Amino acid sequence: MKKQLTNKTGFSTTAVHAGEIRYNEYGSITTPIVQTSTFIFKNTEEIKKLAQGAKDRFEYGRYGHPTQVAAERKLAALENAEDAVLFSTGMSAITTTLFALLKAGDHIIITDDAYKRTLDFSLRCLERFNIGCTVVKMGDYEAIKKAIKPNTKIFFSESPTNPYLNIMDLEKLMGIFKGKGILVISDSTFATPYNQKPLEYGVDLVIHSATKYLGGHNDLLSGVVLGRKDLTSSVRDYLKITGGCIDPHSSYFLIRGLKTFELRMQRHNENGQKVAEFLESHPQVKRTYYPGLKSHPHHDIATKQMNGFGGVVTFEVKDDIAFALDFLSKLKLICIGPSLGGVESLITHPATISYYAISREERLALGIKDGLIRLAVGIENSEDIIEDLSHALA
Ligand SMILES: *Cc1c(COP(=O)(O)O)cnc(C)c1O
Repeated sequence: MKKQLTNKTGFSTTAVHAGEIRYNEYGSITTPIVQTSTFIFKNTEEIKKLAQGAKDRFEYGRYGHPTQVAAERKLAALENAEDAVLFSTGMSAITTTLFALLKAGDHIIITDDAYKRTLDFSLRCLERFNIGCTVVKMGDYEAIKKAIKPNTKIFFSESPTNPYLNIMDLEKLMGIFKGKGILVISDSTFATPYNQKPLEYGVDLVIHSATKYLGGHNDLLSGVVLGRKDLTSSVRDYLKITGGCIDPHSSYFLIRGLKTFELRMQRHNENGQKVAEFLESHPQVKRTYYPGLKSHPHHDIATKQMNGFGGVVTFEVKDDIAFALDFLSKLKLICIGPSLGGVESLITHPATISYYAISREERLALGIKDGLIRLAVGIENSEDIIEDLSHALA
């Protein structure tokens, strides 16, 4: 017996129940981890059922499995999307989607402060397959218009971006692309479906690194693509070839993480705002970037199109690598490390952690200054996070 939820339930009700089959075999309330690589047939009649598209039949792990389907349905319900496709990582979601939707001779436009590996893929990999790529400055809508060519197939962007938390004005953006037949794809990892829903503005596909807020516990890697079924179907078909599929255990951890998604996001938003306000008023901090601060260049757009501003706060201390590293090493609670969106607060010094492989000049051209710090605020008590920062800055 299956009991399906309607789309009208509240966000947390959806997060807890959507996508899961009630009642499972044995009456288990949790969705089972179906740990198998292959699915056998009782008889040859069952092979026919699969060929005819039976929804309760699976064939082989790379083509999909029950734990993955439950997680995908839950994510689709939270994003209000027709369909969701899960991947082993966020990068697998991005690269498979672009490979599935582009062909030689096409052109793609991407914003300059997109995730570094997405830029690497677009510039270094796609160009080898004769797919042109134009990088435009985030926030320069005239440059986006000018970059459009007759063979432009995709516009790819993020919002908020890393590390400056720039916000794309989705209404303005969609005004540019309306009726042009160009697919607009948004990496919405920093926003999450709790804080922003780009599909409601007409964006064609939304991508998340589910490694971050969706999983939420710094214990899994995953990515997801969401949108209309005609688009996600071709991405799913391509995934069956490229093979970046999610395994049953990660699917289960993702489902588990999503149950508390709204509670965690509320705390991330609340902590992010409090910590940003503390840093902005601290004499050792030169500048704080957080969309929830009035001083942020995109505060008005963010307030208009987002429900909250998330847990990432970027700030600048003295323009001196030694000072920045000394500050990091004095922290007791906040862990030093990349990534974001988990329950534990994490801090990175981009100049020495993510951008160490390039020259100082190249790094500065990307806006990665010596004193730049990115803090991914977790769900600990804000007083403790602030106390830790205050002590290390003193
Ligand atoms: C982390 C991240 C990715 C890549 O996701 P992985 O799960 O690490 O592969 C892509 N985009 C953004 C904005 C990210 O933060």
